[in-house]
Amino acid sequence: MHLKRIELENFKSFMGELVIDLEEGFTAITGPNGSGKSNSGDAIQFVLGTRSTKSLRAQNVKELIFNGGSRSKAAKSCEVTLIFDNPENDSGERRLKVDADEVCFTRAVRLTPKGAAVSSYRLNDRPSTSSEFRRLLIEAGARGDGYNIVLQGDVASLSTMTPLERRRVLEDVAGVTQYDEELRKADRQRKQVESQLEMIDVFEKKQ
Ligand code: ATP
Ligand code: MG
Repeated sequence: MHLKRIELENFKSFMGELVIDLEEGFTAITGPNGSGKSNSGDAIQFVLGTRSTKSLRAQNVKELIFNGGSRSKAAKSCEVTLIFDNPENDSGERRLKVDADEVCFTRAVRLTPKGAAVSSYRLNDRPSTSSEFRRLLIEAGARGDGYNIVLQGDVASLSTMTPLERRRVLEDVAGVTQYDEELRKADRQRKQVESQLEMIDVFEKKQ
């Protein structure tokens, strides 16, 4: 799946609008310490969805909005759009189950007059939800908390993990974890049905 472009607006250290074009092949972003390299990766995770804001290296969602730094005014909202290529393959299927050659996922955060942060989502510019994002991305194998993104320090932590932890990572990449969860769910349901059957049994014996 090809991420073609990232459009940022007032996200973390990026004041105003910024477009990052990602051509086919390999794109490297370089710059001195603190210049926003990791923040541009955080922007991708912000839209794809992660378990917590902490993994975007912010205490809360408000900290994702450009704070003005030392010289500018703080912004009141931020927004990131990821633009994915979504062509039909030979059998007429698309990786993202959206009937369009290009899919734009937009997540925005705005501050209310009272200072609370509100998130909103758009898919190809129509209102959407975080759960629709999650469903489409899981189907396409592009979860934000999966191993699509290798963060600063991840390689070092992979090499110091216990074999069991490393196996979990590999299973997650291979897509096995998802089935483990389904198995656990099916097992819970089976136990529930068994106990209901027992109750019916007891009830029938009493009759
Ligand atoms: P390194 O090479 O050290 O890994 P980097 O290029 O990855 O650096 P980032 O971590 O992307 O740097 O950027 C850190 C900078 O982003 C810090 O200077 C921090 O103050 C700034 N920053 C983070 N959040 C905001 C925000 N909401 N508004 C303005 N600046 C922010
Ligand atoms: Mg960094």
